Amino acid sequence: MKKALEATSTIERADRYMFQTYGRFPITLVKGDGCRVWDDEGKQYLDFVAGIAVCSLGHSSPVVCRALAEQAGKLVHVSNLYYTEPQTDLAQLLVENSFADRVFFCNSGAEANEAAIKLARRYSMEKFGPNRHVIISMRNSFHGRTMATLSATGQEKIQKGYDPLLPGFRFVPFNDLSALEMAMDDAVCAVMLEPIQGEGGVVCPDAGYLKAVRALCSEKGVALIFDEVQVGMGRTGKLFAHEHYGVTPDIMTLAKALGNGLPIGAMLSTEALAGAFGPGSHATTFGGTPLATAVSGAVLKSLLNDGWVEHAKSMGDYFKAGLNQLAEKYSFIKDVRGLGLIIGVELESPGAPVVAECQKKGFLIICAQERVLRFVPPLIVKKEEIDLLLEALDDIFNNMETKRG
Ligand SMILES: *Cc1c(COP(=O)(O)O)cnc(C)c1O
Repeated sequence: MKKALEATSTIERADRYMFQTYGRFPITLVKGDGCRVWDDEGKQYLDFVAGIAVCSLGHSSPVVCRALAEQAGKLVHVSNLYYTEPQTDLAQLLVENSFADRVFFCNSGAEANEAAIKLARRYSMEKFGPNRHVIISMRNSFHGRTMATLSATGQEKIQKGYDPLLPGFRFVPFNDLSALEMAMDDAVCAVMLEPIQGEGGVVCPDAGYLKAVRALCSEKGVALIFDEVQVGMGRTGKLFAHEHYGVTPDIMTLAKALGNGLPIGAMLSTEALAGAFGPGSHATTFGGTPLATAVSGAVLKSLLNDGWVEHAKSMGDYFKAGLNQLAEKYSFIKDVRGLGLIIGVELESPGAPVVAECQKKGFLIICAQERVLRFVPPLIVKKEEIDLLLEALDDIFNNMETKRG
């Protein structure tokens, strides 16, 4: 056995034993309840990150605890060689509440997008023949870290060092319809985009953009893929973000909030495309385990039946109004944007110092790109909790202004 390390704190041991792939904040979290989490020194934080738009019903949600305990005592995993009731129930619920006709379950956002890319290519191959495999995606997009999904991600920093990338991806700027038109030649099989760009800085589509993209795709027989991994599941104040824009995709991907923290992803499509995936065409060992789908089904039922989607809209409006007041007060706030409870505040300067000051005051927030503060709290967040953060931000911004002189 190797010699035990002198260092004993969680942070020291983590830095010693794990790949250093994450730039972590020096906080060790030990428990959570609703919108609150606690570190190992007993300090409390109000959590406006929610595991990056994951824990929509908050931490230690009774809905999740109950479903998890019940299903864990019944059946955790059996493989997709057999049918299970929780998996079937969740698929039916997703289909009944979306544009889609069929669902494929997997374990993460990247895997859901992998499935979408594979389905789009296979469908195109079967329907139109070879040499029509290009997928157009957007600059500043984010679709995941596997080889195919990082090849689809329009950010150099994420692709750097991994050449050769998967061929057949083409990038255009988000919200630039003529660039998309120009890129749409006979080699294109799909257009893939986030209806609202999350990692890209909470960038919303211009009025009419998604409708025009839909029309262009329909005209050319090109599949439209919406990556709703971050913005789906009620976060924007509708169950799926694209519902705000009066368009439906051919394929949609989900993950983050789907399981409220249990790893689960899903790729959904219309019947027309789903036919391209027959037995043996795609698979995963863990995808849609009874455990993950039982929890996810309970979470989705609660979102739909307990009013959390509407709550996300009203809390989002309230939060944005408060942030807009701050923007009027402080000239270094350049923009406040978003829908429901995915909100971005663009600053003139890097956001990292604000994130650090928030942590000192007991609030967890994150950035999207260097200069955008991103707020993606649990959908169950209360007005009083939003007020506390707005007060803290006012204080932090006030200090920043004093320093700038
Ligand atoms: C987080 C995210 C992904 C990747 O999901 P993972 O579960 O980390 O693989 C893909 N697309 C979008 C829009 C995301 O926000």
